[in-house]
Amino acid sequence: MSLPVVAIIGRPNVGKSTFVNRLAGDQTAIVHNEPGVTRDRTYRPAFWQDREFVVVDTGGLVFNDDTEFLPLIRQQAITALSEACAAIFVVDGQTGLTPADEEIATWLRQHPVPVLLTVNKCESPEQGIIQASEFWQLGLGEPFPISAIHGSGTGDILDELIQYIPENQAPEENTEIKIAIVGRPNVGKSSLLNSFVGEERAIVSPISGTTRDTIDTLVEHDGQTYRLIDTAGIRKKKHIEYGTEFFSINRAFKAIRRSDIVLLVLDALDGVTDQDQKLAGRIIDEGRACVIVVNKWDAVEKDSYTIYDYEKSLEARLHFTEWANTIFVSALTGKRVTKILELVNQAAESHKRRVSTSVVNEVLTDAVSWHSPPTSRNGKQGKIYYGTQVSTKPPTFALFVNEAKRFNDNYRRYIERQFRKQLGFEGTPIRILWRSKKVRDMELGSVNRATRV
Ligand code: GDP
Ligand code: GDP
Repeated sequence: MSLPVVAIIGRPNVGKSTFVNRLAGDQTAIVHNEPGVTRDRTYRPAFWQDREFVVVDTGGLVFNDDTEFLPLIRQQAITALSEACAAIFVVDGQTGLTPADEEIATWLRQHPVPVLLTVNKCESPEQGIIQASEFWQLGLGEPFPISAIHGSGTGDILDELIQYIPENQAPEENTEIKIAIVGRPNVGKSSLLNSFVGEERAIVSPISGTTRDTIDTLVEHDGQTYRLIDTAGIRKKKHIEYGTEFFSINRAFKAIRRSDIVLLVLDALDGVTDQDQKLAGRIIDEGRACVIVVNKWDAVEKDSYTIYDYEKSLEARLHFTEWANTIFVSALTGKRVTKILELVNQAAESHKRRVSTSVVNEVLTDAVSWHSPPTSRNGKQGKIYYGTQVSTKPPTFALFVNEAKRFNDNYRRYIERQFRKQLGFEGTPIRILWRSKKVRDMELGSVNRATRV
């Protein structure tokens, strides 16, 4: 699990699970099975401001009674603490300080993890300060009075907590952008390649482990490196006589698979053909970003409607033109060719973009309040509990819902449109996974009434 962990520690009955429910809001529990560690720890995703984390309730910690299960709970607490970026130690303000609390405090002081001391069950603010003051003597710094049931004080503790939670770290991968140039024979792929390469310093780079037949070209432009995938495949026909009908679709498919972004090159004189549609289908299936390059625009007789008409016919024939940008160029004259790289940069940015869970849930809450999920014939309504981005390239979101089948295609498209409208993602496909979630032992709401603590 890559999100930072916050461990909730305390003796039984102080209100740990109430507090965890409060922190995690309506977000569904993730039971995390990790080989080699105790299997039943429950992680609950939570967020505060721009920070995301998971809370793990370590179970009631007791030291002075070695009945059968207690060593196990202690072991769990130790495991949780060892992976935690911070611990929240919960005590009971109504009961006051107990010897068990003191033992836990001693134990916590032996660990290097930052500890926030939370005095629960302080419903009254004035009383709370008095109730909390007793816990200074634990030597763990300022005790924060809260009421897990009412939610008071939890914002303060979270404000304090986030300083220990690392910022979302989008893995800093290789910044090289991998581009596949695909299209039918004679649309102008190699002319385009030459115009990229001609202007910039190019390095031809054989890929290790493949035949010398597969050769990429590296091009640098404005400090950005582009890897043009399988340029040998594009150039090849210059040396070997293929019939013009020969079209190695498999070679194109392989290039698409290795790329981040595909330049789908069309011939302006021919419009969209079946083969172009086939390539487009594969681009979507592989989840690649895309720029549609309409080449030979110089050869088209134009009036002021030509572009508009062309775009209309693209929309009709290529069903993803909605999110992909289209550019009209001439590899022959060089017109707008350098603009292609601007669109590539934008699409590549969208493709690897990561949106925080809080923003995803804001968009969902908003979308649901404009347009409620469908209700089935027996009167049961679809509910979205919570959503989160699970991966990039392409951006992929998991939405946890009561029953995925209640959400029909119409509603799914609506949600996707809302994601695009609110979050952008120009140039890249996005994926939304609808996951049914069994609601166990906790009262779950849905994003339309989710509260952020
Ligand atoms: P845990 O064993 O530490 O997980 O504690 P629970 O969350 O199960 O709570 C133990 C008891 O304390 C339950 O009866 C809760 O209703 C009660 N409780 C939890 N939080 C509060 C609170 O903020 N105020 C009051 N008055 N009672 C609370
Ligand atoms: P490839 O098979 O897709 O690599 O296509 P080529 O780059 O070999 O180009 C095929 C033919 O189209 C050549 O005769 C090029 O000169 C011509 N061509 C390429 N780009 C353009 C363009 O922008 N305008 C015009 N008018 N012809 C072009």
